[in-house]
Amino acid sequence: MMSLNRLAPDQLPRPDFASIPRYSAGADAEVDLSDNTNQWGTPPAAAAVLREGLDVSRYPDMYGDSLKRTIAKMAGFGPECVVTGNGSDDVLDCVIRAFASPGDTIAHPDPTFVMLPVFARINGITPVPVPLAADFSMDADALLATNARIIYLCSPNNPTASPTSVDTIRRIIDNARGLVLLDEAYVEFTGLQGFLAEAPGLERVIVCRTLSKAYGLAGLRVGYAAASAEIVEIIEKSRGPFKLNRLAERAAVEALTTDTDWVAARVREAVASRDRLASELVAMSLPPLPSAANFLLVPTPKAFVLAKSLRDEGIAIRPFRDLPGIGDAFRITAGPWPVMERALAALRAALRTAPRDAT
Ligand SMILES: *Cc1c(COP(=O)(O)O)cnc(C)c1O
Repeated sequence: MMSLNRLAPDQLPRPDFASIPRYSAGADAEVDLSDNTNQWGTPPAAAAVLREGLDVSRYPDMYGDSLKRTIAKMAGFGPECVVTGNGSDDVLDCVIRAFASPGDTIAHPDPTFVMLPVFARINGITPVPVPLAADFSMDADALLATNARIIYLCSPNNPTASPTSVDTIRRIIDNARGLVLLDEAYVEFTGLQGFLAEAPGLERVIVCRTLSKAYGLAGLRVGYAAASAEIVEIIEKSRGPFKLNRLAERAAVEALTTDTDWVAARVREAVASRDRLASELVAMSLPPLPSAANFLLVPTPKAFVLAKSLRDEGIAIRPFRDLPGIGDAFRITAGPWPVMERALAALRAALRTAPRDAT
């Protein structure tokens, strides 16, 4: 801010950037349960790619063709129906930029993925938050009533972990005025198919997925989406070439093909660990919201105090301030049980020492 004062008016950034936050998270903790990554680590075949010593003196595929072919084969449509990106963050950003003009609106459940309204605003689009229904699923009627240019859906939703029924999602798809952008970052933990395979045939729907959560590749930044070939072509204009690097693409293909059994086993463990963690939290009078993902959201006025205490023990969880309809809460990722026991011990200790009415 200080240095901006020294800039001449013609040198200033966009005025609307003043109120846009720069993302900050606590990834430097010894145990990071703050962002829902795979706590079992990198899948083995993908890890082997990283050790291979790949020649990176040449540019990667412009649009990630081998990853597109892998996903297309998996889902049963053509590679022209897949767009890749530098994380699904990149894909979401590119979709918004390509399909909404400055001044347009994008409706989203509230709370939802914190980056979504940020991506809207950096592209000059107005985010329209729509409260979740009483059961924490997405409110179809209220989302449709916004008449927004794009409706963003997230199921299971982050940070609530709550799923929305297939029927509700379908009703939104069938009745939306504009595009529907469905974020399936946690679909692997639901045991359901999701909408990926259907997306190209649904015309107005873009289904977004990531290799950062179940697939254990958050550090490589790989995301993708499926849609009709026409929509994909437009998103790729907005995305530009070379966003997916050579190493990331190779590792992602291995993770999606050779590592499938490893990933499936870790997903089962994450779900079992999550359910066990949920019962322990209930026993501590910290009941979480029902979860269909690899994390839990725990409403408590002590969220920030607890997050601070755990941080002092080298464990990062994610506190949230005043979530609509929920209040203060913390989000915690499910991982191997010994790690959960360590987090639970730290939570119990923090509850004993936290001031009774601390917020
Ligand atoms: C983590 C997450 C993403 C981002 O994934 P990247 O591929 O790492 O960019 C997208 N959407 C939701 C809902 C997430 O929780």
